[in-house]
Parts: sequence; C-alpha cells; structure tokens
Amino acid sequence: MKNIFRMNFAIGCFLCTAVLMAQSNDYVATEQIVSKFVSQIEPSIIEFRRDLHMNPELSNRESRTSKVIAEKLRTLGFDEVKTGVASTGIVAILRGGKPGPVVAYRADMDALPIQETRSVPYKSRNPGVMHACGHDVHVSIALGIAETLSKIKDQITGTVKFIFQPAEEGAPDGEEGGAGQMIKEGALENPRPKAIFGCHVESEIPVGKICLISGPTMASSDDLYIEILGKSAHGAKPHDGIDSIVVSANVINALQVIRSRRIDPREGFVLTIGKIQGGTRSNIIPEKVEMTGTIRTLSEKIRKEVPGLVRQTVEGVCSAFGASCSVKINKDYPVTFNDPKLAEEILPLLKKIISSENLFTIKPHTGAEDFSKYQKVIPGLFFFIGIANMKKNINSAIHTSDFDVDETCLAASTRAMSLLLLEYLKNNKI
Ligand SMILES: [Zn+2]
Ligand SMILES: [Zn+2]
Repeated sequence: MKNIFRMNFAIGCFLCTAVLMAQSNDYVATEQIVSKFVSQIEPSIIEFRRDLHMNPELSNRESRTSKVIAEKLRTLGFDEVKTGVASTGIVAILRGGKPGPVVAYRADMDALPIQETRSVPYKSRNPGVMHACGHDVHVSIALGIAETLSKIKDQITGTVKFIFQPAEEGAPDGEEGGAGQMIKEGALENPRPKAIFGCHVESEIPVGKICLISGPTMASSDDLYIEILGKSAHGAKPHDGIDSIVVSANVINALQVIRSRRIDPREGFVLTIGKIQGGTRSNIIPEKVEMTGTIRTLSEKIRKEVPGLVRQTVEGVCSAFGASCSVKINKDYPVTFNDPKLAEEILPLLKKIISSENLFTIKPHTGAEDFSKYQKVIPGLFFFIGIANMKKNINSAIHTSDFDVDETCLAASTRAMSLLLLEYLKNNKI
C-alpha cells in the first residue's frame, strides 16, 4: 500500500512537473511572439497616438476618434465592431480559436478643454482642446493590444471584448454619457465578460513600470450643491437682515470639521467647495449664497454616511444663524474598487510579465474614474501605467496644459496588457 502510494505520488509529481513545464514553455513561446510583434508595431502605435493627440475631441463629441478606431479595428479583421454605442462608443469582439471565457478591455477616448502649452511636433491642432488626461494613450494601447491579439487569434483561449468609451470626463450638461451609458446600452452583455481590465497613465510612476492596487484604487466623486437663504438688508444695518455671506463662511468652516472630527482619520475623505456665488455690491447684504463642491471618499461605507453629515452640518449652522438652506448631493462616480480576489490572481501573472522590479506601488488616488461603474457590474482591475521620464522632462500631472507621456509607455503597456489578457483567459478556461 505504501509503495503503491509512493509510486502514484511519484507519477503524480512527474505529471505535475510536466504540465508546469509545458505551461511555462508555452508562456515563454507566447511571450517571445508577443514581444517581437509589439516591437514591430511600436512605430505605428506611436503614430496613431500622435494623430489622436493632434486631433483631440471633447466628451460626447469624439466622432473623428471613433471613426479612426473603427476603421483600424476593421482592417485588423474584427468581424464584430459595433459603433454608435452611448453616442460615439465602440464595442468590438475578438473571438479566439480555442473555447474559453470572455474578458473585456476598456479605453476612454475624450479630451479636455485645455490649451496645450508644451511645444511638441504632435501638439493639439484643435485650439483650446487637449488630450491632457492621456486618453489618446489609452486608445492607442487598446488598439495595440487588438492588433497583437488579432495576429495570434487562433491561440487565444476565449474572447476579448474591446470597449472604447466616450465622455469619461463627464457628458456635457443635459446629455447622458460615459461608462454608465455604455452599460445601459449593453456594453457588458452579449457576451457578458467574466472580468474587465483598464489602464490609466500616471505621472507619479516612471515609464516602464505598472501599479496594481488591490481594493479601493480611486475615490468616489459626488457633487454637492448648497443654497443658503438669509434676508437682504443694507450693509450698514446687518441686524435688519440675515447675512447669507457670514452664514456661508461658517458653513464652509463647519464642513471641514466633518473631515477632522466626524470621520475616522484613517479613512480617505475630501470635501472641497470649489465655487461660491453671492451678493451684488459692497453695501448690500445679499439674501442668497450658492456654492458647489465635490465629495471624495475611498469607501462606499463612508460615501453612504457623508450626505447625512453634510446635511446635518449645513442645516445646523444655518439654523443657528436664523437662515434656511437647501442641500443637494448628486451621486456621480463610485469608488474604483479593484476586486481583491482578481487582484490576487493577476498580481503573480503581472510580476511574471513585467518582472518584480517593474511593479510599482502608489497610494490610492483621490481622483475619480467612471471605470468604477463597470466594476459595479463585473469584477474589474484598473492599472496605473508609468509615463514619467525626468531625463526627457516629462512628469507633468494629468489635466495640466504641459502634460505629456514618454511614448515608450505605449509598447511597454501593449506588451504587458496583451500577455496579461492571454494569461488570464488561459488560467480561467472553462
Ligand atoms: Zn481626466
Ligand atoms: Zn482620465
């Protein structure tokens, strides 16, 4: 019995090793093919990025961008390229040669209303509009992945769904858009992906490095509107009125006490009043002050608690001064939450693909991303990709007029994400 067990154990171990060796040889071969192909297409990925950078388009107005992406996908032999999703969005499907799960990869397409100041040959040709959030880079990487994977389509264990999304920066007033609208229009159905991946450029990270955070990765973002109603009076006779300006000053200070005294200091939380409007001239006490702000949290639990605390604070202060108020909070972007189980599965793969020294760690962002809306439907991972290079004087933050990237990030990320998608599908085969 003992001997048989030993023999079985030995055979089992041998088979195990053989399978592992075959898998590792398989990976080495795939890695070589992907790396070689990506370096071949690197100039065309850069060229594509520069074309997008020169022709930036604002949220929900990405018609040229959408057209060039769809054309490229069709030349790559994608048979399913659905355009016009959530206005200018595209959903394209690449079915692999082997049966397996479905994974989605998302890239956002819109630019920002900023005048580019950096002097580069590929400077924006659209005055007052600029790809200052790197979405031109995100699209080019996604197309680089699409091209790489379409070359080795027969080897893919499953299906890759590419989602090119408009209006990540927010749809214009009165319009729907972004990830929420893509989901409403079926981007995550037929077929439904098992997981979704996406990337964002990050100027805190040196080029060639990638960061994957498990759990909260970027903050939620909700809009705050406050109206304070006092009573108008002559500026020289404040006792005849209720000074909405003085009330608003106290409201603003009291709101900051939520951060310091009402919320666990270990929690991520920001409340900023970004706009305040009231009054017409120096000697009139105005009846009304309006202000708007943004609320950011790194936990859905805190996000749920905050509206109550804000209302209590504003109403309490206003009542103490004899004023009245209205408080509105519009829920916008949830917390970008990287599924811990998925992160645990992907981290060793990422380490294998880019090596440990290229895995970078940063703290979660207080910026927000509507990628979080996909993660509310299916598990997803949002990666930060390095773009900074001090030698080339490239380290400006996103949303600034001299933002740029070290373009070697394009090939590095295309390679890493292509391999990651392939490995994820192989590991999760049905
Ligand atoms: Zn942005
Ligand atoms: Zn962005």
